[in-house]
Amino acid sequence: MNTILIKNISLKNRIVDVLIEGNVFKQIEPEIKDVNADKIIDGTNRAIIQPFYNMHTHSSMTLLRGYGDDMRLFEWLSEYIWPEEAKLTAEDIYNGTRLAIVEMIRSGTVFFLDMYWHHQEIIRAAQEMKVRASVGVTFIEERGKKEIEDNIKFINNFKSPSNRITINVAPHAIYTVGKDLYQELYLISKVRGLKLNTHLAETVNEVNDCKKANNNLTPTEYLESIGVLDENTIAAHCVHLTEHDAEILSSKGVTLVHNPCANMKLASGAFNVPLINKYDCRVCLGTDGTSSNNNLSMLEEMKFAALLAKVSYHDTSLLSANQVFAWATKNGAETMGLNAGKIKEGMLADCLIVNLNNDRLIPNNNLISNWVYSADSRCIETVICDGNILMENYIIPNEEEILEKAKRKIS
Ligand SMILES: [Zn+2]
Repeated sequence: MNTILIKNISLKNRIVDVLIEGNVFKQIEPEIKDVNADKIIDGTNRAIIQPFYNMHTHSSMTLLRGYGDDMRLFEWLSEYIWPEEAKLTAEDIYNGTRLAIVEMIRSGTVFFLDMYWHHQEIIRAAQEMKVRASVGVTFIEERGKKEIEDNIKFINNFKSPSNRITINVAPHAIYTVGKDLYQELYLISKVRGLKLNTHLAETVNEVNDCKKANNNLTPTEYLESIGVLDENTIAAHCVHLTEHDAEILSSKGVTLVHNPCANMKLASGAFNVPLINKYDCRVCLGTDGTSSNNNLSMLEEMKFAALLAKVSYHDTSLLSANQVFAWATKNGAETMGLNAGKIKEGMLADCLIVNLNNDRLIPNNNLISNWVYSADSRCIETVICDGNILMENYIIPNEEEILEKAKRKIS
């Protein structure tokens, strides 16, 4: 079994040795002796920290980065994004996903929950680059019966290429998927033991349209009324929630995914942190797609989340560094049923090696505070996922070729 020994590294302000055997943290001790490891990493002046689990993105939208920015939402979608998305080929999606994964690895993310087209290409890219992924098989009713049938067939016949890759059932949103299909997809997700991944309550328009069409029910109340909310459901955005909505989401065990950068850039609104704290909802963090962010850095996402909460509710104590760090790391791993998200013996070997000599981390008064409010991806030297080294000393295999292939300009 492949072994990696990391020597003299700081873990929560203690200097330890960390032994990775296969894909788990085998031993964490002040000193590990008599081990003939395949690889030894010197951890001096470095810290080991859990990586990020990006719980909502559309990875290959990297190809649309910087296209049609600063437009009004509907104009942006209808005149820029949707027509351009329609032109993306399977090969484009593969190349865009690989670019996204380079960006994720460099900024410390080892897992992403995706929702997009050409799911096979996203699976191929994630498998090749050895990250973890839950790839959405995405449903939009307007795309026609044939695609819906093909998607369902794909879900029913899916065999994962590795323990790192799974799929999820992704009805896009209540305004693109009707009641019958939502319910059918919910049942399929139950039978197959897969997550149901959807957008929810992202904009005021969505709420108003839903109320108009459904007897004054909010989007959350509507989904509850059709019976598709439970601990298997992952709902992205959840910006516009009432007290009753938060109560439903909490009691049903739904996972909420906060995407502060996209919510700010698209002027959707501010995630109601006091409300979700009050009802003790489970929350994770996501970047959303690149065209509404415009990058995939979970470091930035944590900072924006904390600042947006503080300024929106005039409360500097709201959404502490520790709380938002948990949203970005262990909450995601837990939601996905991964025994990961902490640096602990017996858990899956996902970790970052962080350079404590980086200017952004000096002085090291509080690493988590520095991590949320000060760090950038230059602080991340090495990335390990499932016991595999994805980036070592800032080097990602094949990076040059991956970046070159993704330089697709919109004409
Ligand atoms: Zn989204």
